Amino acid sequence: MQRAHNFSAGPAILPIQVLEETAQAVLNYNNLGMSIMEMSHRSKEYDAVFIETQLDGLKVMGLSPDEYDVLFLGGGASTQFLMIAYNFLKSKADYINTGIWAKKAIKEAKWVGGDVKVVASSEDTKFNYIPKNVQFSPDADYVHITTNNTVEGTWYPSIPDTGSVPLIGDLSSEFLSREMDYSKFDLIYAGAQKNIGPAGVTMVVIKKSLMERWTGKAPTMLDYKIHLENGSMYNTPPCLPVYVINRVFKWILNQGGLPAVEATNKKKGYLLYDYLDANSDFYIPQVKTKEDRSLMNVCWNLTSEELESKFCAEAKKRYNMTNLKGHRSVGGIRASIYNACPIESVEALITYMGEFMKENK
Ligand SMILES: *Cc1c(COP(=O)(O)O)cnc(C)c1O
Repeated sequence: MQRAHNFSAGPAILPIQVLEETAQAVLNYNNLGMSIMEMSHRSKEYDAVFIETQLDGLKVMGLSPDEYDVLFLGGGASTQFLMIAYNFLKSKADYINTGIWAKKAIKEAKWVGGDVKVVASSEDTKFNYIPKNVQFSPDADYVHITTNNTVEGTWYPSIPDTGSVPLIGDLSSEFLSREMDYSKFDLIYAGAQKNIGPAGVTMVVIKKSLMERWTGKAPTMLDYKIHLENGSMYNTPPCLPVYVINRVFKWILNQGGLPAVEATNKKKGYLLYDYLDANSDFYIPQVKTKEDRSLMNVCWNLTSEELESKFCAEAKKRYNMTNLKGHRSVGGIRASIYNACPIESVEALITYMGEFMKENK
């Protein structure tokens, strides 16, 4: 099979090995004579997959199961916006507004009520940087940040220190792409379809001690406590998506964990950004502050919208490069180069960019 050069922001590319393992498990899991999709989620075989996935996730992050729990929930990262506020917003919460997704998280928290304080925002410059040296409220119930801004192509060069105030992070579009002190977070969530699996499941990592601050106000399906007490099986979990995540975690661990993943991501990201910076009269990078540039979503403009449309159309036609069009809210070009995007795709993209510039400059 000839694979496309897939630069989709999500659902996004997965490792071919994971797709092959999943294809096999969908037909006949471990020679049990049935599909992984046909098994009871309470069978001992499936339970083993589920628990292994939870533990491998913590292992990749360097977190202990004595301190952290893992949930696999439906409803997308978008439902987490609401669940977080329902479960932990008692009187006041601090939010940093760094993009479209951060804004949606703020909107849901306001819907729940309480004092939702936007302590910093980069909206004035179309979210093209990450606010630094933010003053947090010492009496906040939590601080919420969006570590990688999928649409705008920024990420936090370092995770802010919130002192004794719990830190909650939406890591959806960079989850497990770089080494990071994950223990700085009290709650991490990530929609799987960006970097760790297919759509349909959201991974939530909760520090056990955070539950001491639980409000007890959420309806059943939005209540972390209910999901925690039931081992993330209060209702039927997204069984097949969790299996795919299981294979992705093995793929990460087998290549040496996050140091290896980060090294590859740096190679890919710097290759592309160096090319943009060297040709910025034709390919104009959207994020100017170098340290804030996401190595997952790389965004740039051409000198006109017509040229941008032509760039995407020709990429598809000549080299089967897909999903290069920027998000509808910001326009331009966006290449999402998540963990599973091979360096060959980035190299092919740069070769194409050279050709296109020669023909159109
Ligand atoms: C895609 C995305 C979301 C929304 O995820 P859904 O699973 O579609 O709800 C939230 N936050 C970030 C940073 C994203 O990239």
